[in-house]
Amino acid sequence: MKKRWPVKLILGYAGIALAALVAATVLGWLIGPRIDNYAYDTMLRRDAPPPRAPHSVIVAIDDSTLNAMGGTRRLRSILATGLELIAAGRPRVTAMDLILADRGDAAEDQRLRNAMAATPNLVLPVDMVEGRWEAPLPMFRSAASALGHVYPDMDSPDGVMRRISLELASGSQRYWALALQAFRLWRGAPYILESPNVIQIGSETIPARRSDGERPLRIVYTSAPLPRISLEELRRNPSRASELTGRAVFLGVTSLSAARDRVITPYHNDEGMHYMSGVEVHAQVFETLARGQFLSDIPDLDVIFICAGIAALAAVIFGFLSGWRAYMAASILLAGAHLLPFLLFEQRLVVPLFTLAATAWFAISGTATWQHFAVRRQLRASEADRVRYQQTLQFVTHEMRTPLTAIQGSSELMGRYNLPEEKRKEFAAMINAESKRLARMIQTFLDVERLGAGQMELRSESFTPDEILQPCLARVRPIAERKSIAVHAGAMPPLALTGDRELMEYAVYNLLTNAVKYSPAETEIHLTGSVEDGAFRLAIRDQGMGIEEKELRNIFQRFYRTRRAEASGEKGTGIGLSIVDQIIRQHHGRIDVTSRVGEGSCFTMIVPADAATRRNPPSVSSGTVKIET
Ligand code: ADP
Repeated sequence: MKKRWPVKLILGYAGIALAALVAATVLGWLIGPRIDNYAYDTMLRRDAPPPRAPHSVIVAIDDSTLNAMGGTRRLRSILATGLELIAAGRPRVTAMDLILADRGDAAEDQRLRNAMAATPNLVLPVDMVEGRWEAPLPMFRSAASALGHVYPDMDSPDGVMRRISLELASGSQRYWALALQAFRLWRGAPYILESPNVIQIGSETIPARRSDGERPLRIVYTSAPLPRISLEELRRNPSRASELTGRAVFLGVTSLSAARDRVITPYHNDEGMHYMSGVEVHAQVFETLARGQFLSDIPDLDVIFICAGIAALAAVIFGFLSGWRAYMAASILLAGAHLLPFLLFEQRLVVPLFTLAATAWFAISGTATWQHFAVRRQLRASEADRVRYQQTLQFVTHEMRTPLTAIQGSSELMGRYNLPEEKRKEFAAMINAESKRLARMIQTFLDVERLGAGQMELRSESFTPDEILQPCLARVRPIAERKSIAVHAGAMPPLALTGDRELMEYAVYNLLTNAVKYSPAETEIHLTGSVEDGAFRLAIRDQGMGIEEKELRNIFQRFYRTRRAEASGEKGTGIGLSIVDQIIRQHHGRIDVTSRVGEGSCFTMIVPADAATRRNPPSVSSGTVKIET
C-alpha cells in the first residue's frame, strides 16, 4: 500500500495544478479583462514616454477659434483659413479630422477645395457610420493624397480607447487608419506593404497581427499632451506657422462642446488627459508609429504556457518542500506572477495580469491544501502503525508468557530436585513441546505480520481439504473432550487446493478452537465440506453462545472480543480471527458468519478450489456477514 502513495500524491498535485490552470483561464476570460485593463492603464501611465521632440502638432479648432470665426456653421471657411495658414509653415503632412460628406455653401466649398489643392500630402478622413463608409465629397477627395479611417471603437468594454485598428473594412471597401496614412506620407513611402503579422512602411515594420479583419495597435499615449496651437492664435500670429515646419499637422475640432468624437483615454484617473478629442488621439497614434516602440500582446497560447509553468511550479513547491520553505517559495512565486506582467511590459509585451495571478493563487492554495491533507493522512497512517506495533507487542508478551512459564517452572524443578528418571523425561518432553510451540507461534505470527505488510510470498503447495483438517481435528478433539463436546466431521470432497498449507491449517484450527471455546459443555460441533461454484466451502457449526448482530461486523478486527465472550470468562486475545481473515483473503477467499445468540454460530470458510497465490492480491470482501433470524 505504501508503494502506491507517491504516484497518488504526484497525480494529486498534477491534477490540482491543472484544475487551477483551467479555472484561472476560464475566470480570466470571464472577468479578467476589467482587471487586466486597469493594470494595463496603470502600467501605460507609469511607462508613458514624455512628448519630447514630437513629430506632430495639433492645430486646434478650439472654443476661442469657434467664437472668433463664426462657430460651427462657418466650419468650411475656418478649415480653409486653417489650411492656408498651415501651408505657410510647410509641414510634411497635414491630416484633417473632419468628414466633409455634405455639400455646403458653394463659394465656401470652392475656397476649401482650393486650400486643399494647395496643401501637399493631405490626408482626409473617412468614418464608418452604421456599417457604411462616410467619405468626403469627390471634389475634396480628389484634392487629397490619401484617405484614412478615423473609426475609434475597438469594442473596448469600458469605452476607454486603448487600441485602434490600423485597417478597417466594410463591404468591399477597406481603409487604413488616418494616422497610418499620415505616417506613410511623412515617411515618403509610396505604399503600405502588408503581411498577416506586420505592416511595412518603408524600412519601418509595425507589428499589427491581423485578426477578425482588424489589425489592433495599442496606442502609447505620451505622458503629457502633445503640442497644440489654437487656430485662432495662428491667425493672429501667422509667424507661429514656423513651428509646423517638417512636422505632421493634425487639424481638427478640440472644443469639447463641439467635438463629437471625445474619447476616454487610459488616463481616466488623471484629470488632465481624461477626455481627448479625436484629432488628439490620431496624433497620439501617429506618435506611436513615429516613435517605433510598439506594445504587442502575447499570443493566447503563450499565456497558457506561462500559466502552466506557474501551476507546475506551485505543484513542485508543495510536492517537494514543506513548512516555511514551501510557503517562502510560494510567496516568491506569487509575487513573481504579479510582477511578471510589469516586467514584460517593460519589454513592451502585454500579458493578462489577472489570468497569471489567478493561476498562481489557485494553484498555490490548491496544492498547499492538498499537501496539508496528504501530510495529515501520512501522520494518521504512521499513528496507526504505531498503535498496531504496540498491540502486537502486547499480544506477543501475553501469548508467550504461558509456554514460557511452563518452561521456566519445569526447568527450575529439574535443576533443583533430584527427580526420578521418568519424571525428568516427562519434564524434558514438556519443555521440548512448549519451546516448539513457542517457536511455531513466533513463526506464524511473523509470517502473518509480513503477509499483512505484503512482504511475503505465500508458499504455493497443493493439498486436499482432508490434509489440513485431520491434524486440526487431532489437536482439537482432546480439548473438546474436556468439555464433553463432540466434533463431527463429514466427508471432505476430494479436491485439490493450492496455497500455504501451514497457514490454512492455522486458520481452520483457530475456527475450531473458537467453536470449542465459546460453546457450553455437552454440545456438538459439525464440520461440513462442500464444493459450490468452483469454491471449496468448509462450514464449522457450533451450538455455543452465538454473537449479537451488532457485534458480528467487529469480530474480524484485531483485539475485538464480544461482550458475551468477555462475560463467559473464556480467556482470549481477540486476534485469532483477524489473522484467519488475513490468511483467507490472501488465498482469495472469504469467511461468512451466521449466528444466533444462545443457539450457535456457523463460520464458513470459502476458498477457490484452484486458489493460486499471488503477491498483493486484490482485496476481496471478507468477513461477509449474514444474519439468520
Ligand atoms: P479470541 O477468541 O482470542 O478472543 P478471536 O479473534 O478468535 O479471538 O475471536 C474474536 C471474538 O469473536 C471472540 O472474542 C468472541 O467474542 C467472538 N467469537 C469468535 N468465535 C466465536 C464463536 N464460535 N462463537 C461465539 N463467539 C465467537
